[in-house]
Amino acid sequence: MGQKQHVVVVGAGYAGVTAALRVSRRHRVTLVDPKECFTERIRLHELAAGRVGAPVALRDLVAGREIDTVKATATSIDPDARTVLLDSGTTLTYDRLVYALGSSTDTTGVPGIGEHAYTLEQARELSDRLSRGSGTVTVVGGGATGIELAAELAESAGPWQVRLVTGSEPGNGLSTAGRTHVRTALERLGVRLHSHTRVQAVHSSGLSTDRGELTGDVVVWAAAFAVPSLAAEAGLRVDERGRALVDTAMRSLSHPDVFVVGDAARVTVPGTGELRMACATAMPTGAHAAEAIDALAHGREPKPLRFRYLAQSLSLGRHDGVIQPVRTDDSAHRLVITGRPAARINEWINRYTIASLHAERRRPGTYRWAKPLRPAGAGAAAGAAS
Ligand SMILES: Cc1cc2nc3c(=O)[nH]c(=O)nc-3n(C[C@H](O)[C@H](O)[C@H](O)COP(=O)(O)OP(=O)(O)OC[C@H]3O[C@@H](n4cnc5c(N)ncnc54)[C@H](O)[C@@H]3O)c2cc1C
Repeated sequence: MGQKQHVVVVGAGYAGVTAALRVSRRHRVTLVDPKECFTERIRLHELAAGRVGAPVALRDLVAGREIDTVKATATSIDPDARTVLLDSGTTLTYDRLVYALGSSTDTTGVPGIGEHAYTLEQARELSDRLSRGSGTVTVVGGGATGIELAAELAESAGPWQVRLVTGSEPGNGLSTAGRTHVRTALERLGVRLHSHTRVQAVHSSGLSTDRGELTGDVVVWAAAFAVPSLAAEAGLRVDERGRALVDTAMRSLSHPDVFVVGDAARVTVPGTGELRMACATAMPTGAHAAEAIDALAHGREPKPLRFRYLAQSLSLGRHDGVIQPVRTDDSAHRLVITGRPAARINEWINRYTIASLHAERRRPGTYRWAKPLRPAGAGAAAGAAS
C-alpha cells in the first residue's frame, strides 16, 4: 500500500478531469477551475451556431469521488515550495501537481484580433450576435476548427453569408480524398473559400489581406492556439510555444513533481512523434499521468506512455463529415469515410468522450485508449494518441 498523496489538478478540461478521476482511486484530489460547468470544447462550433447542449456541472462529473472542486483561477505556481496560489487568495500545497490548463485561441497573430474578432472562447456571444441581423461572417483558419466552424455556421446561420479564409488549403493534414471532400462540402453549404490568403490585420469592417481587403460584418478568429504562460512563469522547462516539456510519464523535465497533460504539454512518443493538441491526446495523457503518480507513490518507476491515433474526425455540419484514418505515425491513409456515416461516427466520438468521463467516475481505471500493436522500441512504430 503506497503513501496517500494530495494531488492538486489545475484545469478541469478533458485532461484534468480524466487525471483527477483516475488518481482519486487511491489519493486525495483538489480540482481547480474557474468554471462551474465543464466546457465541451469539441462542441464549441456547435454552440457558436446556436446549438446549446445540456451543461454538465463539474461537481456532477466528479460526484462520489474523493475530489474537492475549487472554483478559482490558478495565478502562480511555486514548484520548489510545492504550492499553487489561487485568485481567491488561497494557497494550495501539493505532493504532486497535475497542470492541465489547456489552450485558447492565439489572438496575437496579427493586429486587431483582440479588438475586432470573436474567438471560440466567446462562442455564446458569437451565437447571440449572429441571431441578430444578417451580413457576412468571416472565419479565419483552415485547420479542423475553422473548417468545422464555417460548415456549422453555413448550415445553421440563416441570413448570414459565410466566408472561410486560410493561408493554405483547408484540411492540410487530410488525404487528397479528405481535402477534396472538405472543399466539396464547403461549396455545397455555400461557404466562400479564400485559400492561400494571408491575413495582415483585422479591423472593424473586416480584414486586410495580402490579396486585398475583405469587408464583412463579423470576423471569427480560429487560426491558432496558444497555451497559458503559467508554466513558463513558474520556471518549468517549456518549448518556444510555452508548452511544458515532459517525459513519457508526463513529468515536467525540470520539475518531476509536476505532471503536465493535454494541450499544455509537449509530448513526444516514439513512432508517432509530437502529439497534436487534441481531446484525443488530452484524455490519454491525463489518465497516464494519474497512473504514473500512483506508481511513484508505490515506489515503482512509471511506465512510458503507449498511445496511437486511429483517425482524425471532422464534422461538416450535422449531416456530413470526414473520418480520416491515420497510420501509427499519424499520417493520413489514402481512404476516408465521408458523408452521413462520418457525421454519425463524429457524433458518437463526441458522446463517447463525456460517457468515458462518467464511466471513469463510476469505476476509475476503466478509460482505455488505442495503443500501438508493438511496444516502443520493438522496431515498429510506437505511438500515442487516440
Ligand atoms: C471547436 C473545436 C473543436 C475541436 N474538435 C476536436 C475533435 O474533434 N477532436 C479532438 O481530439 N480535439 C478537438 N479539439 C481540440 C480539443 O478541444 C482540445 O485539444 C482539448 O480541449 C484539450 O484538452 P485540455 O484538457 O488540455 O484543455 P481544455 O479542454 O482547454 O481545458 C483546460 C481547462 O483549464 C481551465 N483553466 C485555464 N486556465 C486556468 C487557470 N489559470 N486556473 C485554473 N483553471 C484554468 C479552463 O477553464 C479549462 O476548463 C477541438 C477544439 C475546438 C476549439
